[in-house]
Parts: sequence; structure tokens; C-alpha cells
Amino acid sequence: MSLADKLAEERRARLAAERLLEQKQAELRAANRKLDLHARALSHEIHETRAEVAVVRDENRRVKSDLTVAHQKVEIAERRLWHSIQTIRDGFAFFDADSRMIAANRAWLAVFDGLEEVRPGIRYAEILQILTEEGIVNTGERTPQQWREHMLDRWQADAPEPEVMRLWNGEYIRLIDQPGAGGDMVSLAHNITATIRYEKELKEARRRAEAANRAKSAFLANMSHEIRTPMNGVLGMAELLMESALDEDQRLYVSTIRHSAEALLVIINDVLDYSKIEADRIVLHPEPFDLERCIHELVTLMQAHARDKGIDLLVDYDLFLPTRLIGDQGRIRQILTNLLGNAVKFTEAGHVLIRVTGVQAEEGQEADIRISIEDTGIGIPADKVGDIFGEFNQVDDAQSRKFEGTGLGLAITQRLVRQMGGDIWVESEPGRGSTFGLSLPLPVAEAPAPELLPLAEGLKRVLVLEPNDASRALLERQLGALGLAVTACRDGARASEMAAGVDLVVADHAMNATDGFALAQALRAAGHTMPIVLLAVNPGSLAQHPSRALVQAVLQKPVARRELIAALAALVPAPPEAPPEAPPRAMRVLAAEDNKTNRLVFAKMVQALDIELSFAENGREAVALFQSLAPDIVFMDISMPEMDGKEATRAIRAIEAREGGHVPIIAMTAHAMAGDDAEILAAGLDHYLAKPLRRADIVARIAEAAPPDARPPAAMVQDTG
Ligand code: ADP
Repeated sequence: MSLADKLAEERRARLAAERLLEQKQAELRAANRKLDLHARALSHEIHETRAEVAVVRDENRRVKSDLTVAHQKVEIAERRLWHSIQTIRDGFAFFDADSRMIAANRAWLAVFDGLEEVRPGIRYAEILQILTEEGIVNTGERTPQQWREHMLDRWQADAPEPEVMRLWNGEYIRLIDQPGAGGDMVSLAHNITATIRYEKELKEARRRAEAANRAKSAFLANMSHEIRTPMNGVLGMAELLMESALDEDQRLYVSTIRHSAEALLVIINDVLDYSKIEADRIVLHPEPFDLERCIHELVTLMQAHARDKGIDLLVDYDLFLPTRLIGDQGRIRQILTNLLGNAVKFTEAGHVLIRVTGVQAEEGQEADIRISIEDTGIGIPADKVGDIFGEFNQVDDAQSRKFEGTGLGLAITQRLVRQMGGDIWVESEPGRGSTFGLSLPLPVAEAPAPELLPLAEGLKRVLVLEPNDASRALLERQLGALGLAVTACRDGARASEMAAGVDLVVADHAMNATDGFALAQALRAAGHTMPIVLLAVNPGSLAQHPSRALVQAVLQKPVARRELIAALAALVPAPPEAPPEAPPRAMRVLAAEDNKTNRLVFAKMVQALDIELSFAENGREAVALFQSLAPDIVFMDISMPEMDGKEATRAIRAIEAREGGHVPIIAMTAHAMAGDDAEILAAGLDHYLAKPLRRADIVARIAEAAPPDARPPAAMVQDTG
């Protein structure tokens, strides 16, 4: 090979090597670039990862610290809770599903007085064992064994009832055990010793209060007795004094004494009645009585007062309604007295009308009696009407403040009415008047007589002269119901004219321009000869009037239906009957009374009667005199020395049981408590008169007892009430 060839070859090789080198260098650069790129990416990645690691580490740290805080909080909460549980005064423990104690607070453990064994882990049954064996619990009636069984049974119940456990030292623990989730049991022990002691104290206080209340009732009974006895003297003597010769001033003084005493008595009675009702001690004594008569008696009693005020008292007793009913007359009288008293009290002008209606009933059946008391007085404001039956309620405005009263009357009335099975209500319009309505279911004692007395023959047309509208309407109705043709007129101005063709004139004595006698004179002067009947509120005072002979009858106003009928029947004189033979003897009345003043009062009260009066000063004497005198009636004071009225009555009844007969014995007593009257009647007394005695009551009782073989004691002496 040539050198040139060799050189060329060498150059070619060198060139190739140089190219290779260049290529390799380029490759190296590229690789370097790549490497650099990679290194940069890697360093970025490393950087990012580092940052992430830092975040995670931070988070980790935070979570860790949060956890610590939470843990601390839980610890604090638990400590606090436990501290609270420890400090509460009630015992608190809880048990797991195997009835092993998990924990208990100090109060729960206190009853065990530091016994080591009672600590977490102990079983409930072991605790019961310790309680009995150590004598911590007083198991009472149960043996320790029974008690433990009882407590275990209870523990295992689904919902254990609370249990009271008595400890040796007299303390009481109430256990409340509550099953919780997963079979746990929470046990609360509540010391109720104070409550139980308080309950005992309350019971004791109540016992003492009841005793005090009984003492109060007894005191009231006594007080009533103590007050009523001298009041009998005051009222009785005032009543007698009223009838003696007095000058005007003296009369005023005496009547003031009397009215004050009566007012006092009303208050005492109200207060007593109310306390009796409070104690549910009112006992009703139903017996046959005459309702119409009872109402008329009341009206007579109130008449004087109403007359002084210029008010008419009217009674409208349904003609076909029975009058003999069965009820507690005394209490019915009390109800009506109160309503009537109020009506008169709160009325300045016009009238008070008592209307009695009802559903007809046969003898023995219950009649639904309706009584309304209607007045034309001040009325009751609508917003007060609902309250007046409450206690101590008075419509308190300037208008009614001037009226006295206890505010108990209607409360008592309502209770009495309800006790009788009835009801009471009121309708009122201020300024126009009030109507009190009353329903009373009362059995009929005697159906009304089927035929009324025949009227005088030829009596067909009647002229009524009566200024009062209500009263006139009433008379029209009553006379119309008797089958008479009635012409009614408000005054006597045209009487002469109107009397033409009339068979009878019924006229109010007190007419506006004239009076009954002047009217009679005018009629007689005009040649009228028909009978004239006058109605007057106090007929007694007209008896001596020079013109009395001009009229045929003067009747008490308001006139009782029976009296009116009797008067009309008597207008034509009946054929004279042979005068009855004079009874040979006077009635014998025995009164037993230990108090000298009251004997005097009694004697004075009956002094106008044609009777033979004897006194006994105690029960023993009364029995002896009963045997020696054979009285027709006995008045018996209840509290007397040596032998009291009840005992004496029992002795008399025993004598009668051997020898036959039954003499009415009337109790006179100042005891006003309910229950007393029941006891008194149970001792064999027939009736009951409360002191202070009223002359009319005594006279009525004597008149009722008059035997056929004795002279009648006398005409009724009018009560001056
Ligand atoms: P008091 O002893 O005060 O009369 P009551 O219980 O009998 O007590 O009556 C309560 C109140 O009801 C009376 O004070 C009066 O304000 C009112 N009142 C009762 N009856 C009537 C009546 N007929 N007219 C107007 N107000 C009456």
C-alpha cells in the first residue's frame, strides 16, 4: 500500500474519528441537557415533597395537641361531674350488668360508716347482707332474710318501684333505682327524714287545728247560750214594757232597745249558722207544716217594718197548690225571712210580692214548689249579681252601703236551699227591682181540700177598690178563681156609681184620697146595703173605729186565701147553732225553768191567756209536777240544775209508756248549735223553741195543745213584732 493510500486512509480514519467524536459530544450534550432537566425536575419534586412533609408534620402536631386538650377536658369534666356527684347530699351509685358496684359517692357510702368492704366491685346482694348484718337497716315487720329477698326482687324488676328504707337511727332513705343501657343500674338514695318529720308535724298541726276547731264550735255553742239567756230577758222585758203605759219618749227608748237586741240576735244567728254550715253540721228535720200559713206569719212579722217604709207586702199563693207540705219549717222560714228581709231592706217604694206556684202533686208525692220574692227596690248591678250568694258579699256602692247586714244571709240561704235539694237564683234590674226565685222539692202532706167552702149565697159580682196595681191584680185573680165576676178600680172616687148591681165590695182601707170607713160611709149614704170587706195592714187598730159597724169584716192584709174564703162564706150569717156547753176547766200549762227572770218573762207572756200556769225550777220538780198536775202541755228548759230537760223528758215519757197518753213537751233552749235540736228531739221532746222566746210562738204551741175538755186558752194574741 502506498503511503498516499496510507495517508488517505489515515485521514479518512481521523475524519471518521472526528465525526464520531463530534457525534458523541453532541450526544453527551444532549444527555447532559436531559440530565440537567431531570435534575431540575427532581429538585422541584424534592422541594414539594419537603413542603408536604412539613404540612403533615404540622397537622400531626396539631392533632396531637388537640387530643391532649380534649383529653384534659374530658378529665376535667369527669372530675367535675364526680365532684358534683360527691358533693350532692343524695346518694348516687352505679352498678354494672352483673350488679357489681362501679362507683358510689360519699353520701351513698355514708350509711355504711366507713366499712372497707363496700367499695367498687362489691355485689348488690353483698351490700344487702351487710345492711342487715350490721344492723344498719331497720327491717320493721320483715325478717332480715325477707327484707333482702324483697330488695333483690325489686332490684331485678324491669322498673323497680321507689322504696323507703328506714335506718337504725330513725332516718328515712328513699331508694330510686333506674336500669340503664346495657344492663347498668343507677341507684339514687334520697334522705327524706326531714320530709317525713315535716309530714308528721303537719299531721300533728292538723290534729291540733281540728281540736281547736272543735273547741271553737263548743265555744260558739256556749257563747250562743250565754248570750241568748240574757237576751231572752232583754227582749222579753222590752216586749212587755212596750205594752205598758209609756209616754212617747219612753216608747222610743224601749223600741230602740228591742230593735237593737233583735239586730244583735240576727247577727249572732248568722255567724252561728254560718259556722255550722261550714262544719256541715246543719241537720234538716222535715215534718208536716203549712207553707201558706208560714208565709203569712212571716209577712205579719215584717208588716210593721214594711208599713213604716210605705211598702206593700203581697202574697200570691196558687189557689190549687197544696199548703200542707213536709219540710224543715224552721229552715224554710229562715230562708224566706232572709229573702223577704232583703227585699224590704232594699226597697224604698212600691211592693214586695211573694208568689208561690208549683206543679200539682198527690198526697205523698213530691211537689216542685216555686217561690219567688219580687221587689221594686234598688236592684243589683249585672256585674254583682253573680257574687251575692258568696260569703261576706255585699254590693258595695254608695247606694247599698247605708244598709246594714253581715253579707252572710244569702250564702246561708243558698246552702240551705241546696241541702233541701232545691235551687235559688236571682234576676235583677238596677233601679227597677229584683226577683229571687226558689225551687224546693217538698212532699205533699195533705192534698188540697177538693171542695172549698161554699161562698155566701147570692154572691156573684164583686167590686174591688185597691190603689196598688199588683195587689189589685192579685185580688182580681183570687176572687175570679172563686167564680166571682170582678170589677176592679184603683180608687173610691166613683165607687158609688160602680157599686150599682154589685153584691160585695172589697176595699183597701188605705186609699189615696180616702180611707175604707169614709168609703163605707159614702156607700151607705148612697143607699148601698151590700156587704163591705176592708183589707188593712193592722186590723186591730181599727176595731174601735166609730164606723166599724158599717163594714162586715176587716181582714189582715195581705189576706190569706183561706181567710178570704172563710170571710166570704160568713157574710151571710149561718143559722145560729146551740151555744156549746162551757168547758169546765182551764188548760193546765207546766213550765220548767231555773232562771228567775225567764220565769217572769214566761209568766208575763202568757198572762193574757185563760190558763192555769205552774212552774218547776228544775227537771226533778218538773217530773213530780207532771205527775201531780197532769198538765196539757209542758215547756221545758234544757239546761237546768239537778236534772236537765232532756233527762226530765225521758222520765216523763217513761211514765207515759206505763200509763198511756202523750203530752206535748216543748223544749226552750238557748243552745243554738245544730245537732243540739236533733239531740233534744231524740230525748222525746216534740218541739223546739229557741231563746229568746217569742210570745206568738208560745201562744201558738199552747193553742195547738188545747184539749177538747178545756176552755180555749184565748184568741191569738197579736204579735207586736
Ligand atoms: P246582708 O246581710 O248584707 O243583707 P245578704 O247575703 O243577705 O247579706 O245579701 C248580700 C248582698 O246582696 C246585700 O248586701 C245586697 O247588696 C244584695 N242584695 C240582696 N238582696 C237584695 C235585694 N232584694 N235587692 C237589692 N240588693 C240585694
